[in-house]
Order: sequence, then C-alpha cells, then structure tokens
Amino acid sequence: MKTSVIGYPRIGAERELKFASEKFFKGELDENGLEAVAKEIKSKNYKKQQEAGISFISSNDFSYYDNVLDTAVLFNIVPKRYKELGLSELETYFALARGYQGEKGNVKALALKKWFNTNYHYLVPEIDDDSEVKLVGDKPLKEYKEALSQGVETKVLLTGPFTFISLAKYTGEKKKTDFVDAFISEYTKLLGELNDAGVKWVQFDEPYLVRDLSDQDKELFKKIYTQLLAAKKNVKVLVQTYFGDVRDIYTALSELDFDGVGLDFTEGRKTFELVTENGFPAGKLLFAGLVNGKNIWRNNYAKTIDIIKKLKNVEGISDENLVLSTSCSLLHVPYSLAGEDKLPENYKKHFAFAEEKLVEIAELSKLADYAASSNVATVDSFKNNQALFASRDDSVDEAVKSRVASIKESDYTRLPEFHEREKIQKQRLGLPLFPTTTIGSFPQTAEVRKNRSQFRKGEITKEEYIDFNKKKIAECIALQEEIGLDVIVHGEFERNDMVEYFGEHLAGYVFTKNAWVQSYGTRCVKPPIIWGDVSRKEAITVPWSVYAKSCTDKPVKGMLTGPVTILNWSFPREDISIKESVLQIALAIRDEVLDLEANGIDIIQIDEAALREKLPLRKSDWYSEYLDFAIPAFRLVHSGVKPETQIHTHMCYSEFTDIIPAIDAMDADVITFEASRSDLQILDSLKENNFKTEVGPGVYDIHSPRVPSVEEIVASLTKMRERIDDNKLWVNPDCGLKTRGDEETKASLINLVKATKEIRG
Ligand code: GLN
Ligand code: ZN
Repeated sequence: MKTSVIGYPRIGAERELKFASEKFFKGELDENGLEAVAKEIKSKNYKKQQEAGISFISSNDFSYYDNVLDTAVLFNIVPKRYKELGLSELETYFALARGYQGEKGNVKALALKKWFNTNYHYLVPEIDDDSEVKLVGDKPLKEYKEALSQGVETKVLLTGPFTFISLAKYTGEKKKTDFVDAFISEYTKLLGELNDAGVKWVQFDEPYLVRDLSDQDKELFKKIYTQLLAAKKNVKVLVQTYFGDVRDIYTALSELDFDGVGLDFTEGRKTFELVTENGFPAGKLLFAGLVNGKNIWRNNYAKTIDIIKKLKNVEGISDENLVLSTSCSLLHVPYSLAGEDKLPENYKKHFAFAEEKLVEIAELSKLADYAASSNVATVDSFKNNQALFASRDDSVDEAVKSRVASIKESDYTRLPEFHEREKIQKQRLGLPLFPTTTIGSFPQTAEVRKNRSQFRKGEITKEEYIDFNKKKIAECIALQEEIGLDVIVHGEFERNDMVEYFGEHLAGYVFTKNAWVQSYGTRCVKPPIIWGDVSRKEAITVPWSVYAKSCTDKPVKGMLTGPVTILNWSFPREDISIKESVLQIALAIRDEVLDLEANGIDIIQIDEAALREKLPLRKSDWYSEYLDFAIPAFRLVHSGVKPETQIHTHMCYSEFTDIIPAIDAMDADVITFEASRSDLQILDSLKENNFKTEVGPGVYDIHSPRVPSVEEIVASLTKMRERIDDNKLWVNPDCGLKTRGDEETKASLINLVKATKEIRG
C-alpha cells in the first residue's frame, strides 16, 4: 500500500530554526547562515521520510515563518506600506511577519489568526483594491529541486487558491470574487512552471473545504479548479483536505479532474460515510488520512486496518488507488520521542510523535497488504500494538470520577448576578476610571529562565530558586508602581508556560523534554500530556500571589489558567470524552481559586487564551459539540467565590464576534483580549450584543518589539470609548509580556499609563 505524509514539522528536531532566526533578527547570523540552517532541516526531514519508505513526501512544507505568508509573497500580495520600506526580499518577508521599526520606517505586522482548529497561527494576507496578483517568486520550485538534488522526488505542497482567497482579508471595496480570475491565471502559471520542471505531483491544501460552505463558496471552488485543472499537463494534482469532512463538496471533488483526493478519516466525522455511501471515482487516488497528525497517541492498528479493509470494498477503491496518509500535516505534533529519556517506557510506548508516526505508517501499510489475504493477528508489530490498548490501569482515580459525577446544576452559577457584583466590587476596590493593568507575565529574561532551569537540574536549592523569584517579583512590583499601573501582577516568573506549569501541579499529567510544536512564527509550545484523571495535588500559585501582595498596597491580581485552555493546550486523552476531561480540570482549578481567595487575593484572573481553539469548524456544531460544556466548565471554576472577589478572564484573539453571547455567559467580571492587531472590529459587536462584562481590549500588540506611541494608544482608547461605556473600560496590552524584553516593556507601559491619564484628564 502506498503511503503519504501531508507535511512534516519544520522547526528542526532541536528547534534549530527558532534559534537561527532569533540570531538572524539580532544580526548575529546573515541570510546565508539562516538559509544553511533551513536547508539542513529540510534535508533531514526528507531523509527521515525516505528511510521510512514514504511514497509521497511533500516539499515546500518548509517555511521561515508561515506557509500562508509564503503564498502571499509568492503572489505579490504585499501591502504598499511594506514595499515602501525598501527592504531586501527576506527583510520584507519578516517585516510582514513581525512588524518593522527602524531607520526605514515603522509598520505593524500582519494580523495573526488561528489556523482552523489548531494552535498554529497563520498571517492573514491583506488584499487591497490595487493589489496586483502576480506570480513573483519561485520558492515551491526551488524547494522541489533542492529535494530532488538530494535524491528525493517530492510532491509540491501549495496552499490552495480557494483556501488562500477565503482566508485573506480584503481592505477595500473589492471582494475575493474580484480577484479570483487573477489568482486562477497566476496559479495556472505556477502549475505550468512546475509541470515544465518535471514535477510529478502537486498537493493543493484546501482545508477550507471542511467548513460549512455556502452555494457561492461551492461555485467558486468549482470555477477555480475547473479552469486550473484544464490547464494541467503531465503534472498530477492532489486536492488535500484535513481537520474535518467535506460533506458539502464531496461530489464536486469526485467529479473534478483531480488525480488524487485527500480526506481526513480521524477528525472527519462523516468521511467514512461519505465514501462508503457515494463510492469513489476509480481513476483517482484516495489519500486516506488514518494516522492522526494532531495527537500523540499510538494508532490502533486493528481499527485502522478494519477501515482500510472496508474502504477496499467500496466501489471504485482497490489496492491500486488507496494511499495511507497522515490525517493532516505532522506540523502539529513534536519531532521525536528519541530524546525523551526521562519519560518512563511504560508511558512512552503509548505515544507516537512525527518520527514514530512514520514507523506506524510503514508498519500499517505492510499489515494492510498482509491482511488482504492472511490473518494479521499473528504478526508481531500487530500484536505489540494491540497489547497497548488492553489497559492503562494507573489512569483511573475513583475519587475524581465520583466528584465529577456529583456536580450539581447550581454549581455552574455564580451568585449574586453580575450587576450586583459590579457595584460591590467598584466600591470595594476603589479603582480609578479606566483602570490600567497587564495580562500577567513580565519579560522572561535569560536570568529568569536560567533560575528555573538550574533549579530543575538540581544545580541550585529550592530556597535559592524561590528567593530569586521573590526578588524578581519585588522588582516587578516596584516597576509597576513606578510606572503607575493600577492593578498589579506578580510577573509569572515561576512559569515556563501557562499550561505546563499548571499541569506539573496536577495529578494525571505527564511531561516531555522536547515535545515542541509550532504556535506562531518560530515560537513553539510544549503541550503536556493528559495521561489519567486530573486533580489538584497542592497549592499552585498561592505562595507567589501571597508574597506579591505583601510587596504592595495596590490590588494584586492572582493569575491562573482556565480549564478549557489547559485542556486545549495539552495533548488530550482519547479514552475518555473531552467534556469529562475539562470538568476534572475545572474542579482542580476551582480548588486553587478558592484557596487564593481564602488567602486574601481579591482579583483573580483565569486565562482562557485558547477557548476558541477547539470550536468546531462547522457552526452547526458549535454549541452542541463544544460550548455547551466548555462555558459551564469555566463557570464551575469561579462560581464559589464571594461577590466582592473580582474574576477576570483573558483571551488571545479578537475573533469572537460570533460567540459574544457565549463569552458573556462565562460570567466573568472583566475580560481582556487581543484587539490591537485586528482594527477593533470586535467593539461594534460588543456594543450590538449589549455585552455586560467589563472589557480591556488590548491597546498595543505584544507580539512585536515595537513600542507604541502615546498618541497611538490615545487614538485606540478614543475609538474604544465610542463603543464601550467609560465605567466598563480597562486599559492593558493585548497579551502577556513574557516574550518581550525589559526595555521595550517599560517604555510601552509608560506610554500606556500616559495615554490613560490623558484620556482621564
Ligand atoms: N497570563 C498569561 C501571560 O500573561 C496569559 C498568556 C496568554 O494569554 N497566552 O503570559
Ligand atoms: Zn493572551
């Protein structure tokens, strides 16, 4: 059976790309140096896949920052303000990605948005009325040739035109339909060039097809590919979908002149049904996404082989045209288990990262062939695999199970209701109009990270570790007082990461050393793994918050991560439901909330940065499949506090215009969120929906080192005041400051306070 990998992680097994780009940004590495690192990563990736015997390996899955941005640049979708800087090609690319502040000008980065239902973020291409769609680059071809020169024949991955134009933002009068012809003709040109260079397969990634599609969407898709495919010569075209099923467009996919169709059988609830009920066109290859590209658990061979067998019985499908594939790009899983020497074997054997998934694909393809005529139950690789699914006894905690079972309806509601609490809190806290605050973390400088890592390695004592953090907390609080912020935070110096840190204090979690996955640009996160039933082992943040409170007379905000985010940024279990998991975590964090309150902390922020992350891609599933348990889980965390305790929450994206009632139903007292990158559109929706919760839309972007000016912040605040009641408006950056440096942080916050004072005046 032939095999395919949609895309491979590109950060490097040791995150080489991250470290090299950081050096490049600091001017310690030149373009050639950066390119050499990239080349090395790509070549190792090709080799790994080749050694595993993968039949279809992708090229052009690599990117310095983001594939959607690559596609924008490839087709000349670069707004004027970036072109006018007059930078080199690569510098312009990074200016789009990260913003630019220097001798040549001052521009913000493009907006970042979540890539479908993953924790990866893409840059939103901006198409202006005078944008000229034009094939101006050759990255896909270059990477194809690079792989070929290493003896690897690849399929060339391209962001599909339909997905690309659907994800882009149109800043002027013109809409996507005004640009579609131009895109068709430039993509056709590209396909022609690839064909002429001898490329055998092109993979058009069209994940947008798994969303709800309108009739116009479907027509648009058909129009694009009818024309594009009419122009293909020898090159074969695979349309690759993932993250769901293609129920709205399956027939068209079968009828259009594609040579291969890639479908996701793991996340696509209806994929199997679609194929078995409608059949599959005999002349095409079916790339069946059966090896999960998002989760890290071993594949259950019996289940997979069973599906393969059933697929082979479908009309149109045979041994010849069925290809075993990953369900999506492996970008969303870590590189390899190889370095995880601290993880005991009895855990490790249950996991498969990218490299191990290659082995699974290879084994499965052999087993599937064998199963066609013989009994696989006698084969070792099959037996070993099945043994893993027999039992995992240490994952069950009866006490946790029964606590979840005894949650009452009333546990989901905080009393008294919002407006009453608001009055009580205003009186109690006595904050000025437009209270200023931050989202929690302060710069995680080298010394902060060193303190943590020395403690982990046992190089310093626990006392030394704690003393250092206390010193940092005291300094951080002094700084906030000097700057004049109203609600003080402790700075989160003890945290490596907002989820892993909590996981470490919860029973039921296991951790890895090196399981990094890309989140935005070359920044990575290391999601912990939920292994078993979850409960709070000990106080998590209480000592730090209590110490912080002792350093100042101003109100100190305690900082927690919420249950939905903890779940969404962990690798979840596959043996119990997501709902059950999130309730277990909610109860654990509830214990911490009540503990903070009992220790005198009267403002508690429960971050739900990732609430939207697992929102189903189809609107019809939003409530029933997700929000109906996610939002109550959040309320369960804070429903036990006194009326005078103020509950904050924070979210990292502004894209919740469409779920505003659900956000309000979280029933927090204050919400801060990312807004500066997205032109404050959200404000209109807040107003329209009569949003009750107090709000702090971020007044500047923390994803870039750029220092916002006072005027700029005043301008944002002025806009905000048109839509938000003065006594509901908070002033804050749009996310935590941990990735920033000390200097720019101070300068930015000084400007933030100055701007607020100006507005107050
Ligand atoms: N409190 C966290 C911080 O400030 C929130 C981070 C986030 O939203 N991603 O870092
Ligand atoms: Zn955030």
